[in-house]
Amino acid sequence: MSTALLWFRRDLRLADLPALVSAAERASRVLALYVLDDALLKPAGKPRQAFLYGCLEALADSLDGRLMLVHGDPVRDVPRVARAVGAGSVHVSTDTGPYGSRRDRAVAEALGEIDWVECGSPYAVTPGRVTKPDGEPYRVFSAFYRAWCRHGWRAPAPHSTVDWIEPEKPFRLPEKPDLGSMALPRPGEAAAHEVWEEFLDGGLDGYATNRDRPDRPATTRLSPYLRWGCLHPRTLLADLDTRHGKDVESLRSELAWREFYADVLHHRPETARKNYDERFDELEYDTDRESFDRWRAGRTGYPIVDAGMRQLLAEGWMHNRVRMIVASFLVKDLHQPWWLGARHFMNHLVDGDLASNQLNWQWVAGTGTDPAPFFRVFNPTTQGEKFDPDGAYVRKYVPELCEIPGKAVHQPWKLPRPPKDYPAPMVDHAQERKVALDRFNAIT
Ligand code: FAD
Repeated sequence: MSTALLWFRRDLRLADLPALVSAAERASRVLALYVLDDALLKPAGKPRQAFLYGCLEALADSLDGRLMLVHGDPVRDVPRVARAVGAGSVHVSTDTGPYGSRRDRAVAEALGEIDWVECGSPYAVTPGRVTKPDGEPYRVFSAFYRAWCRHGWRAPAPHSTVDWIEPEKPFRLPEKPDLGSMALPRPGEAAAHEVWEEFLDGGLDGYATNRDRPDRPATTRLSPYLRWGCLHPRTLLADLDTRHGKDVESLRSELAWREFYADVLHHRPETARKNYDERFDELEYDTDRESFDRWRAGRTGYPIVDAGMRQLLAEGWMHNRVRMIVASFLVKDLHQPWWLGARHFMNHLVDGDLASNQLNWQWVAGTGTDPAPFFRVFNPTTQGEKFDPDGAYVRKYVPELCEIPGKAVHQPWKLPRPPKDYPAPMVDHAQERKVALDRFNAIT
């Protein structure tokens, strides 16, 4: 009887999983493996670790416990486990991230005579496949999006049945990180499908207009599930392809941003840490710890910024519009480097994803692909008034302001008696905007 090993990484599901289909084609018995790799676990931060553990638990449940868990180094442990069960092949979804692709080359080499089989990826179109006619990668989202739609994607993979091998040791996770009062979404594949079906029934209508409103539950909240592959974007796109209209188009294009940034990181792995646009390497930054700490704690005195930063600490998630506002505030009002903010996000986001996070930060900072021009600086007050017009989002996360009705909550400093326990704005936005533009003009 032939044996294969299916190594799960960012694909913690059984439905629509091409790597499982390829393992089932090669072998009748399959060992399911997950390696807890400190190189990825340590920088993940507690919310993402806890969500991962929950997803692994859910996956192990759907396999009746037949998921082997190893805490170690994939380059050493994947070949060791494969040899121990007599596997003729190891099946994975392609990882095109900087660490994942390096690790996979080393594992494939260490496997020697055992076949290394890559099939599918966490994206509808594997990064690197959509290029300009001359083979160069796209730098601008709108052009990438058109080419990505033209390229198209496969139908969801069929379901495969295999005989799962019982691991030697029963599935047991390390102790879950203590999250205090933070409530995370329900982990796992079944939960992901429920969230999606509920959204299709009730949330998709109006998505295009409401998605910018942090005071409304108007987006899918699928990002943590996509991060860990509890469901595949192909599954979502197949459902969207049966529908029409501006809401469908808008969600398809948001899913494409995730694919675009993965494509950019694939071609330029160094942009995880460095400016995509090297002209900005000369930009002058401030790095004083006190300003950064006030931003991080949600004590800047700008209510929409503080609400967002506190939502991040309370839920491990922040609304997209607010992510843009708080990122702009750190980079353009406090003049701090984008990578400090990106690191804080990666520590706290349950959906923290290197490509989406670092390149969205660079978009806001104006140093990335297809950037918001540097001179476009988000005004935290008008953004708050526009996208949280009744102030409900701010009042939810900033209890010191919960007595202030309506949109007055966005400028508490203008009240005859501003709340005593809430800080005055830590900087003057108009002045800092000018400082940011002066620094920018000095290097261009
Ligand atoms: P929906 O509006 O329902 O969108 C559906 C899906 O499309 C999302 O789940 C996500 O996979 C994708 N998507 C939507 N917007 C974007 C976008 N701008 N860029 C890339 N993909 C997008 N997203 C992450 O998944 N991980 C991150 O670490 C991350 N960091 C970010 C940092 C900053 C500074 C900014 C401005 C955005 C960041 N985003 C990140 C993108 C976006 O904020 C989240 O994907 C979105 O808020 C998740 O909520 P949702 O699933 O309800 O989104």
